[in-house]
Amino acid sequence: MEAVTDPAAHVVAGSVLHAGRLITRIENGHAEARAALRELAPHCGKAQLIGVTGPPGAGKSTLVAALIRELRGQGRTVGVIAVDPSSPFSGGALLGDRDRMLEASSGDRGVFIRSIASRGASGGLAAAVNDAVDVLDAMGKDIVIVETVGVGQGEFDIAKIAHTVVLVLVPGYGDSLQAMKAGITEIADVVVVNKGDTPGAEQTAKELAAQGFERTGPPGTKPWQVPVLRASALRDEGVAELVAAVDEHYEFTGSTQWRAAGERARRHAQFVAFVGDRLREELLAPAGAALDDELLADPYGAAERYVQALLSAHRRMATRPRIGTEPGLEKS
Ligand code: GDP
Repeated sequence: MEAVTDPAAHVVAGSVLHAGRLITRIENGHAEARAALRELAPHCGKAQLIGVTGPPGAGKSTLVAALIRELRGQGRTVGVIAVDPSSPFSGGALLGDRDRMLEASSGDRGVFIRSIASRGASGGLAAAVNDAVDVLDAMGKDIVIVETVGVGQGEFDIAKIAHTVVLVLVPGYGDSLQAMKAGITEIADVVVVNKGDTPGAEQTAKELAAQGFERTGPPGTKPWQVPVLRASALRDEGVAELVAAVDEHYEFTGSTQWRAAGERARRHAQFVAFVGDRLREELLAPAGAALDDELLADPYGAAERYVQALLSAHRRMATRPRIGTEPGLEKS
């Protein structure tokens, strides 16, 4: 592949080609993605981030396609990151569902859709998604939607990325209703009972709404009353109302310290991932090479001794490093 000279500038200029390439590098954990991400940072922080989550088959992809149509109709540009948790070995299982989404956007320069899989590098899926969101944000997309299956799958927590989490559910009763309630309590800012064209949707939405779910934010902020909506993604019904509810939540959290606290947490997660990557590069590879004999005899002991040696060297430093002041942290 030819060398990309300044991918960040191309991304900021809206290049789909360069944005796609950069996300591939992010997925693969390429160190060169980091330099571009640093260049992009001043262009980030403008997009409204929406998480769309829910069980498989709830109609998330269909709903995202409908959301894209609605948002485009409002003149807003949209980026979508579809998080694909399938391993490369079972890969592709979910891609068929995305056809409708792609159809909704074909030929529209205001829409950019990418699926992203767990990257090989140590940073993990959450870090890759966070970085990919930044790419679409820097491209100038007004809205970035992150679509992901299920609730709280391991390390990946959509609530730590999105400003607003939309939980997509389907009509149900009994145990499934109990499971829905648990899911809402855990994660949802806005609930949508999809497949509103099928029997039981109205009843389910009513029962859930009667619970009066609330989310509590940082101390001193008012709680948010979680709205429970009904929609039919297939028939494009209730989608404008969903967008209105998401916007209301965004305004609500923005009017307090709530949204700012979430954004700080997201930036902190990126900081930690970045530091982790860099430390691994700088400290681990040389250590592994130097300690060869010791490793063979006792890898755990060697690891502990190595960390203790690093920590004591660190403690000997008179002052804590201050970000941005010491050499090596300035932009290279
Ligand atoms: P995902 O796995 O959550 O992304 O779900 P999909 O978007 O792939 O939808 C799963 C199935 O539900 C598909 O067969 C869709 O056609 C269907 N579906 C999605 N939305 C609706 C809806 O509003 N009403 C009905 N009746 N079916 C829907």
